[in-house]
Amino acid sequence: MRRRHRTLVLMYHGLGTVPAALDPPNNFVPVAAFAAQMDHLQRRGFTAVDEATYLDMLDGGPGPARPVLITFDDGYVSVLEDAAPVLQRRGMPALCYVSPGLSGHVPGPGESPAKQLMDDAQMRALPGHGIDLGCHSWVHDSMRGMADPALAQATTAARTEIFRISGEHPRTFAYPFGHHDSRAREAVRTAGFEAAFATYDGHGRHALPRVDVNTTDTLRSFDLKLRRAYPAARQALSAAPAARRLAHSVVGYAPRA
Ligand SMILES: [Zn+2]
Repeated sequence: MRRRHRTLVLMYHGLGTVPAALDPPNNFVPVAAFAAQMDHLQRRGFTAVDEATYLDMLDGGPGPARPVLITFDDGYVSVLEDAAPVLQRRGMPALCYVSPGLSGHVPGPGESPAKQLMDDAQMRALPGHGIDLGCHSWVHDSMRGMADPALAQATTAARTEIFRISGEHPRTFAYPFGHHDSRAREAVRTAGFEAAFATYDGHGRHALPRVDVNTTDTLRSFDLKLRRAYPAARQALSAAPAARRLAHSVVGYAPRA
């Protein structure tokens, strides 16, 4: 019998120090904190796997004892400029989900410059740094309740466009905002994606859960998120706001810029 592996899948967005007012979802992790988290993973015996190994393991194939898949959503320039060097120095592969319809997107007035998205050339450069490209829909619209033509653009057209940019078809998909429903999952599957990621909730291999890492994580809260029980605990805490506040007061928050 094949041994069934369970891979820890971490979800990041961008790196950098962004004032709290310009990043309400706490999506940007300071570079030094990210580097400390990568060191911590290695100290804890985790081995970062690439997308191909992750997919093999999903089908029962072999892999390291404590596998972790490191993912980045949205395609911020900081993934190439800041995360890639940190990962490469440690020999850790990763996966970045991009929305090709937003290639080269420039932040609006009053927005943080950290929200600059990679252009075609920058996306094309990522795999050379050990970071595979995944698909994050066409222009990052929520796919829950989406009409068929828009679903086709978010999946099939986005997949073709990433192929045009990089010369490789993306193998996996991540839902914008983690939003999915049965029609979205079916559209992703029929477009040819072998697996897809949601955020917290899971629904088969086309809506696999991930563990989010945020600006406010301390090394202690990060360590708690590496435990197998964390996703279940998070769902329980989401259902009980008072318990969630208590949990945060025990673990603490990293200070915001
Ligand atoms: Zn996103």
